[in-house]
Amino acid sequence: MGTFCSVVKFENLQELKRLCHWGPIIALGVIAICSTMAMIDSVLWYWPLHTTGGSVNFIMLINWTVMILYNYFNAMFVGPGFVPLGWKPKNSQDSVYLQYCKVCQAYKAPRSHHCRKCNRCVMKMDHHCPWINNCCGYQNHASFTLFLLLAPLGCIHAAFIFVMTMYTQLYNRLSFGWNTVKIDMSATRRDPLPIIPFGLAAFAATLFALGLALGTTIAVGMLFFIQMKIILRNKTSIESWIEEKAKDRIQYYQLDDDFVFPYDMGSRWKNFKQVFTWSGVPEGDGLDWPVREDCHQYSLTIEQLKQKADKRVRSVRYKVIEDYSGTCCPLNRGIKTFFTSPCTEEPRIRLQKGEFILATRGLRYWLYGDKILDDSVLEGVSRIRGWFPRNCVEKCPCDTETDQAPEGEKKNR
Ligand SMILES: [Zn+2]
Ligand SMILES: [Zn+2]
Repeated sequence: MGTFCSVVKFENLQELKRLCHWGPIIALGVIAICSTMAMIDSVLWYWPLHTTGGSVNFIMLINWTVMILYNYFNAMFVGPGFVPLGWKPKNSQDSVYLQYCKVCQAYKAPRSHHCRKCNRCVMKMDHHCPWINNCCGYQNHASFTLFLLLAPLGCIHAAFIFVMTMYTQLYNRLSFGWNTVKIDMSATRRDPLPIIPFGLAAFAATLFALGLALGTTIAVGMLFFIQMKIILRNKTSIESWIEEKAKDRIQYYQLDDDFVFPYDMGSRWKNFKQVFTWSGVPEGDGLDWPVREDCHQYSLTIEQLKQKADKRVRSVRYKVIEDYSGTCCPLNRGIKTFFTSPCTEEPRIRLQKGEFILATRGLRYWLYGDKILDDSVLEGVSRIRGWFPRNCVEKCPCDTETDQAPEGEKKNR
């Protein structure tokens, strides 16, 4: 109930602009088409309202729609919860364990990450979901996952109605001709016969809705299992990625460290209860997190700092030798560059001759990195980072800045 009230508060009204995006428009369109068609098919042709079964069926269809929309809008408008602007850890000495976000002018609380789309640091960020046009994180993890559970269940019910409507109607038509329907094969015998005949348009609309319902069941159902795995392990997608990189890093430097993921409480039930509560508000405040006994509050953020330093050490400096406009598939950079443009939403960056770039990863014809900016440009923007064609740059021959070994950071722990 508390979450619903926060939806209708005035300051959230401006949040309505979240709806103006292809994700919510398509998602709400699919929900509208499937539920409307299921109700029309039931009432007109398959299961009339004046029977008990028909009424129960109709109420269940309305129930699915309401519950799906309730969780969908909660996930969208309540949002993941953002780290307060200017946030600092309670104990100021702890700030050495945390990364600083220049955009939010705040330290990044444990488990939070800066989302470029939301332009804020998001508490326990899992991913930015285009379908709700918001991040999935601390506050909306439960409603997001409930939506992922309810949408396929509702779609299965709707798909059943669609199949049965088409089957019974087509059976009648094929057996007794298209002009008159002599025997009614509906779930219950009814009288009088349908006022509106099940014509070609109704058949096409039902078939289309069936396709949508089955597609949604499979795609969203799979997302539900992924989210349940995340909740039961208490490890977000981003944190799985950090853990993998931690293992790589330890192996690469042959350290005798062992990275222990601190937030898995050891029991699935305890992890589950952190996200799903009776009040609908998840446990804690999204900034302090309970950790395993052999870890401390900053185990994960210290690992992130080490990875950041390691990335800097392993990155390579490049000098721009040819201009690049920043388009996705540049026509003038060769056919291979054109066709191998990375398939991600990550930005491309405009290059100008003479600039320097610190590349952190790359493909055969493309590189990803940070522009090296002087401090005057750096104010306002935190960094300019993205993809660019490899043949616009050349490696800097003498590279003193990045030749340091990762020493002195082991002491931090
Ligand atoms: Zn931020
Ligand atoms: Zn986001």
